[in-house]
Formats: sequence, C-alpha cells, structure tokens
Amino acid sequence: MRRRSALAAVTTLAGTAIAGVVSRPGGNDRLLTAAQEGSDDITTETTQLLPDTVHETTLYELTASDPGPTVMVFGGIHGDERNGIEAAHDATEWAPDAGQLVVVPETDRVAVENDERGGIDGDLNRHFPAGEEPTSDLARGIWDAVERYDPDVVLDLHRSLGIYGFHREYVGQTLFHSADAHGRAIADALTADAVPWYLPFHRFTPAESTAGGPLLFQKAAAELDATAYLFETTAFLLDHATMTEQSRLVTAHVLAAHGVLEYDTGIGVAGTGEPDQESETEPDGGTSA
Ligand SMILES: [Zn+2]
Repeated sequence: MRRRSALAAVTTLAGTAIAGVVSRPGGNDRLLTAAQEGSDDITTETTQLLPDTVHETTLYELTASDPGPTVMVFGGIHGDERNGIEAAHDATEWAPDAGQLVVVPETDRVAVENDERGGIDGDLNRHFPAGEEPTSDLARGIWDAVERYDPDVVLDLHRSLGIYGFHREYVGQTLFHSADAHGRAIADALTADAVPWYLPFHRFTPAESTAGGPLLFQKAAAELDATAYLFETTAFLLDHATMTEQSRLVTAHVLAAHGVLEYDTGIGVAGTGEPDQESETEPDGGTSA
C-alpha cells in the first residue's frame, strides 16, 4: 500500500516536471522557424475532399516556385489524436522552399468532430488494403486525392497511449517507415531535439514497416512507391503541448530531409546521409496506429 502511494506520487511529480520542462519548445526552434519562414514565393490553394458529404474536409496545397518533391501530410486519421491535427493545421501556414506541401489536417472529419478514434465506418487506418480498393467511402475519397498528387513522400501523424517495447500493445515514440526512408536518422534527431535525458523510455525508435498492411502510409508505399512515414508520439507522461511539438518537429524534419525545406539537418538531401535501413518489426497491431 505504501509502495503504491509512493509510486503514484513519483508519477505525478514526473508528469509535473515534464509538463514544465518538455513543453517549453527548446526542441528545435531554428528548424521550426525555417519551416514557418521559408520561401516568400508560394501559392496556396484549398480544395474540399468528398464535397457535399458528411466527410467533407479541407486539403491545403502549398506550392513553391522552385521545383521539388511533393510531400503529403495527414492529421486526424484518428479523430482523438489532437496532436497530429494541430501540427498539421500549423503546417498549412508553413512555407516550403521547393516542391509542394499538401496537408489534410482533419482526415476523418466525423471522428475529429466527435473527438473519437474512428468515424462512421470505424477505424479509417484499416481501410487501405494494398492492391485492392479502399474499403469505405471516406477511404476512397482520401485515396483519390493521394493518387492525384502521386506524392514522393507521405507522413501520417498519430499518438499512442503507451510506449513501444515498454507497454504491450502500444506503439508510442516510434517512427514507422518504408525501407527507403530516413527513419533512423529522423528518429535520432527527434530524440536529440525533444526527449530529455530523464525520460529514457521516450527515446524515439525507428521501425521499418512491411508494405502489405491496410494502413494509408503502407498503401502509398506499396502502390505509389512513396517514401512513407507513420509517426507515433505517446500520451504517457507527455502533455498535449509536448505531443504537438513533437508532431511539428517530425513534420519539419521530414520536409527538410526530402528537400521541401532548405534547412541543413544533416539528414537526406539536406545532408550526406544515405537512406538508412531498418528491419525490426511489424507496425502497429491492435490499438494504436
Ligand atoms: Zn492513430
């Protein structure tokens, strides 16, 4: 009994410390500033996906005058994962230096409005089987847009409740990625930017994902040959501001690594690193991604 109380007290203290320390964006302000203050010469267009339906949601297309790759960023595939929704909304105000940044902040609009994981047809991130038609109206509408842009890179923003490898069934603090991605380099950069020494279990883990699953980023990798990432932060001991900051940072790192942002992070086209390889695990099973 006494031990349990002590543990609870320590957990509360740790949570307090984290809210105070990690949410201060000491993370990587220069990178985020570079993302916000990129090229002056961009054009922004918005279009409605699935117009005149209950799923109607806004897609933001930011195009730099210099040519470059197309990166698509998704938030709100799970409607209760507010960190990704907020970070994606922020990215609609960013300024790419080259190529195109395409953002859908509230992908499952019904789920977002209900603040629930799934929408009308359940968990959207199980509706994208590779080599087959998407299995719901919403998934078909989203996939139509993905095919139209044929992105070079896809990033899907999530959060879990626990930590991968520490809490069974949870996949937090993981960057799932396709084989050709900069998974390890970006995971290490996120750890350096945003994980303090006293939270060693929150260090980010890269995990190569097989392309055969029913998740949007897997379908994009399998069918469009996109370099694909699925980011998971965790609600375990992290507050909303911290989770959102980590989501902004991974977005900026992906843009820099793939040349949409001209900022030298030492990763990808911004640096000399070769695409790194992982061969660890299957992505998100049950409850999270
Ligand atoms: Zn999720």
